[in-house]
Amino acid sequence: MLQSKLPAVGTTIFTRMSALAQKQGALNLSQGFPDFAAPEALRKALARHALEGHNQYAPMAGLPELREAIAAQLARHRNVECDPESEITVLPGATEAIYCAITACINLGDEVILLDPCYDSYRPAVLLAGGVPVHIPLTPGTFRPDWARVEAAISRRTRMLVVNSPHNPTGAMLEKEDLETLNALVANYGLLVVSDEVYEYLVYDGRVHYSALQFDALRAATFAVFSFGKTYGVTGWKTGYCVAPPALTAELRKVHQFVCFVAVTPVQQALADFMCAEPDYPLTLAALYQGKRDLFNRALTGSPFRLEPSAGSYFQLLDYTDITDTPDAQLCELWTKDPGVASIPISVFYQQPPEQHLLRFCFAKQDAVLQQAAERLCKI
Ligand code: PMP
Ligand code: GLN
Repeated sequence: MLQSKLPAVGTTIFTRMSALAQKQGALNLSQGFPDFAAPEALRKALARHALEGHNQYAPMAGLPELREAIAAQLARHRNVECDPESEITVLPGATEAIYCAITACINLGDEVILLDPCYDSYRPAVLLAGGVPVHIPLTPGTFRPDWARVEAAISRRTRMLVVNSPHNPTGAMLEKEDLETLNALVANYGLLVVSDEVYEYLVYDGRVHYSALQFDALRAATFAVFSFGKTYGVTGWKTGYCVAPPALTAELRKVHQFVCFVAVTPVQQALADFMCAEPDYPLTLAALYQGKRDLFNRALTGSPFRLEPSAGSYFQLLDYTDITDTPDAQLCELWTKDPGVASIPISVFYQQPPEQHLLRFCFAKQDAVLQQAAERLCKI
C-alpha cells in the first residue's frame, strides 16, 4: 500500500475554486491571474521565436540573454549587482524555484520557519525534503511579522526562513525596518532565506519594495525568487527566476537540472526581447493595478464589508464579520454559487487559523468584471 508523503494535502485551493467558478459561471476573483491580455509585443515575440524554429532545449541555467536582461533590470530598479553567469537561474516558475531552493538546502529534521498565513507551496516543499515546518503567525490585523516571536522560535535546528513581500494572501508588505531586522537575525544565527518577491512591482500608494538582495547579510544567504508570470501578466507561461550567491546557486541548479532541467526556450527569448525593448515596463504596473484595487474598493463603498486597502500584490482582503459567522471555506463556495463571485478563503493558508472572517479577492481583472463583482457583493 502506498504511503502518501503528503497525507494532509489535497488539490490546491486555487485549482478547486477556479474549477468551481467555471462550473457555476461565476466571476472568478479567486485564483491569482490577470484576465486581460499581456503586452502585444511580448506575445508576438513568442510567436516569432517559435515560428523561427527556436524550439529546442535552452541552456540549463537559462538563456544567457535573458539572464543578462534580469541582471540589467536588478541594477536599474534595485541598484543590485549580480553575475548572470553564477547567480541567476531561470526556471519554469517561482514555484519550482522555491521547491529547488528548499530541496537543495533542507536535510532531515532541519527546521524551516514559515510565517502564517503563507503561500501554499512552502510547507509541502519542506515536508518533501524531510524538514520540519515551524509556523509562526503574522500579527493579526496588520499581517506584519512579530520578529521577537520569530527570534524566539529559532533553535539549533533552524536552517531557513521563508518570507514573502508583497504578501499573498494578505497584500501586506515588509517595511525597510523588517528587512533590517531580518538581516540582523540572519547574520546572528547563520540562517538561509527564501525571499518570495513575485509581486515586487505590484506596490501601491507610493510604497517602495525592498528586496532581500539589498541587505548585506541577506544578500549572502538568500534565494530571491521572482516570477515573469506576475510582472509580465503571463502566468500561463510558467517562467520565473532565482537570484542567489554562487554557492547557493550551484546547489539550486543541481536540483533544478533533475526536476525540470530547463525553462521553455521561445518564452525565454520573448521575455529577453521585451525586457531589452521596454526596460521600464514593470514600473507601469503599480498605477495599473492600484487603479483596479481602487475601482473594486470604491464599488464596495456602503457595503457591509470591512476593508483595509492592500499595500501590494494582486489581492484585497474583505472582512465579512458584519455579514455572517459562516466559516470562510464554506462561504467561498456558497458565494461562488450565489451571488456568483469566487474568492479564496484565508484559513487554508494557516496551520492554526485564528478566529477571523476574511476572504481574498484578486483584482487583477478587467474593470468591468471588478465592477460587476462588487455590485453582486453589495447585494449580499
Ligand atoms: N509565490 C507566490 C506568493 C505566489 O502568489 C505565486 C503564484 N503564482 C507563486 C509564488 C508562484 O509563481 P509561478 O506561477 O511563477 O510559479
Ligand atoms: N499564486 C496564485 C494565487 O495565489 C495561484 C497559482 C496557483 O494556482 N498555483 O492565486
